[in-house]
Amino acid sequence: MLDFDRRYIWHPYTSINNPLPVYPVESAAGVRIRLMDGRELIDGMASWWSVIHGYSHPVLTRALQDQAGRLSHVMFGGLTHQPAVELARLLVDVLPDGLNRVFLSDSGSVAVEVAMKMALQYWQALGRPAKNRFLTLRSGYHGDTFHAMSVCDPVTGMHHVFAGNLPLYLFADRPEVGFHDQWDEADIASFAGLIEGHHRELGAVILEPIVQGAGGMRFYHPEYLRRVRSLCDRYDVLLIADEIATGFGRSGRLFACEHAGISPDIICVGKALTGGTMTLAATVATEKVGDGISGGDPGVFMHGPTFMANPLACSVAVASVNLLLASDWQARIATIEGQLEAGLSPCREMAHVREVRVLGAIGVVELRNPVNMERIQAAFVKRGVWVRPFGRLVYLMPPYCMEGADLATLTSAVVAVIDGEKEV
Ligand SMILES: *Cc1c(COP(=O)(O)O)cnc(C)c1O
Repeated sequence: MLDFDRRYIWHPYTSINNPLPVYPVESAAGVRIRLMDGRELIDGMASWWSVIHGYSHPVLTRALQDQAGRLSHVMFGGLTHQPAVELARLLVDVLPDGLNRVFLSDSGSVAVEVAMKMALQYWQALGRPAKNRFLTLRSGYHGDTFHAMSVCDPVTGMHHVFAGNLPLYLFADRPEVGFHDQWDEADIASFAGLIEGHHRELGAVILEPIVQGAGGMRFYHPEYLRRVRSLCDRYDVLLIADEIATGFGRSGRLFACEHAGISPDIICVGKALTGGTMTLAATVATEKVGDGISGGDPGVFMHGPTFMANPLACSVAVASVNLLLASDWQARIATIEGQLEAGLSPCREMAHVREVRVLGAIGVVELRNPVNMERIQAAFVKRGVWVRPFGRLVYLMPPYCMEGADLATLTSAVVAVIDGEKEV
């Protein structure tokens, strides 16, 4: 099996001819991933932010099974169904104020494409087609499809590979004032200068609120986001909040925008939406955006994927969001936050560590130099944990249900493995 995988299958961001090793998984339950050789790994990644309730959660499995018995899929053109309606009702209820025009799609990157198309159609419909560019932040990540790539960090993102095929958008300096730091007015200067100078050609600002994920795992100050919101209002530019990573509690609030008390004009959610069981995402706009698009020419929103609003995905999303809301998730995340803080703090003393930062159920150790992925991955597996660093970043974002003892095993593995990195 591994030999076939090696020769024929692409994994994310890998070479087909010289792939890094992969570990075959037999099953997963709770916070443990079971490999085919019988070893069990405590999961520190929640499968890239998504598995918030742990693996094989009985409530989610039952929702999938029940729905599969009734309706696994049906086209959404001209038809509708209870799971989509229930999910939309739930999203409108829990999302920040004013977001109530729901578009369901199949992945985060598509949700970002949809948001950017909404912004373009909105200004076209209003008779201002020149407002067709985007402003974003350096160190951001918004997905791997073309327009999403165009707003990923131009240095660490995909720009150098696809330069010439991507529209050139505007990048403000990344926020430097950390979430817990003292706010400094200078932090917003780059963004403010760009929006002031270019608002006539800007359709929207797109950013990850508070937590910049795959572009650098950084947490910035809520005041930055408040200032962005008010500058967007002042200059008549839409604000798109990409909460695909942060949505559903990860940062300590249900949505990261809540740290700043703001609402965007369009929000994207995905990843944890189905508790990591199915691929599903949503782009939700305000009535203003919906009215704008519908009021102009062609009067319809020009997008409609084959698997839009897949009933299996919608029903398990309803189950997952309800499971979260019925749990004591704030207390769980506060506990995890405290334990990540305490457990990772020994890394602060290490000379080869640049910074340790924790927010909600996210713990990040930033090293001074990039890690050797193959070696560090093997070192973690040997210690019975699943941690997947990238570049200079070793980070944890466990399922919310992780108990103290397992989390302690995870953080001490990180401390030990990073300590081992200093000699190499
Ligand atoms: C993961 C991610 C995406 C892309 O989602 P996919 O489901 O991988 O296409 C977009 N934006 C953010 C902030 C993400 O973390």
